[in-house]
Amino acid sequence: MLQAENITIKYGSRLAVSDVSLNVRPGEIIAILGPNGAGKSTLLRALNGGLKPSSGQVLLEGHSLNQYPRRVISRHIAVVAQEGDVRFPVTVLEFVLGGRYASASTGAWGWETDRDIKVAHDVLRETELSELSGRLMNELSGGERQRAVLARALATEATVLLLDEPTANLDLAHQAVILGLVRQRSDLNEVAAVVVTHDINLAAQFSNHVLLMKNGHAVAFGHPAEVLTPKLLREVFDVRILVDAHPITGVPRITPVHEVRR
Ligand code: ADP
Repeated sequence: MLQAENITIKYGSRLAVSDVSLNVRPGEIIAILGPNGAGKSTLLRALNGGLKPSSGQVLLEGHSLNQYPRRVISRHIAVVAQEGDVRFPVTVLEFVLGGRYASASTGAWGWETDRDIKVAHDVLRETELSELSGRLMNELSGGERQRAVLARALATEATVLLLDEPTANLDLAHQAVILGLVRQRSDLNEVAAVVVTHDINLAAQFSNHVLLMKNGHAVAFGHPAEVLTPKLLREVFDVRILVDAHPITGVPRITPVHEVRR
């Protein structure tokens, strides 16, 4: 579906991503983990053509992203950026409907079809925002705005979702709602998702594969149980980390061990 082949990205002379490859398949969620500055967001931005690699290429359905017009790319790939970027004085419903403009069903002049309206209301319900549909985007809490950003991405019906810290501002219940929705869609083989997150436990719970990055390099890639080991996590995060099995789900449970003197 979406493949990054030996991507290297530089900002001027600074190397941000070094020779990273990734294969994003329908039905899969890939979590990208690593410390600040590891190159996670840079890699994510390259996956939808937002940044051009200095070498390597990104392929969508087997063809280089460079060969597609921007509009076609946004029909296939939706980006869920951090909510702080969205403070327009438009209603939540209008904002979510904006996601439909990338899709084929909406007319060139921006008149929404009945189906566009239905899709928008469906995703608002799923993201538990129906009651706020008439509220202005700049009058939402950070967590509500973040859910609206996800709702807009889901409304595009794109087959690839790229999410940058989608749960950073969310309370525990809404973290599960958001990643649960992405998981549900990928289980139906409707989408593939790449999620940059600092929440290792959520990544363990919701992802099929984990890419561990440090200093622009891919340190490890594999199933959460293979990658989320004390040794690899210590190597990447430079913190002692306890890994055991979650008593209910059985997935790896990560607890940093900070040596604090009391
Ligand atoms: P992460 O998402 O893992 O925190 P980033 O992809 O944001 O990491 O950053 C990777 C590296 O690239 C860092 O060294 C960062 O300082 C640098 N970087 C990020 N964005 C820019 C930019 N716009 N210009 C120059 N350097 C940047």
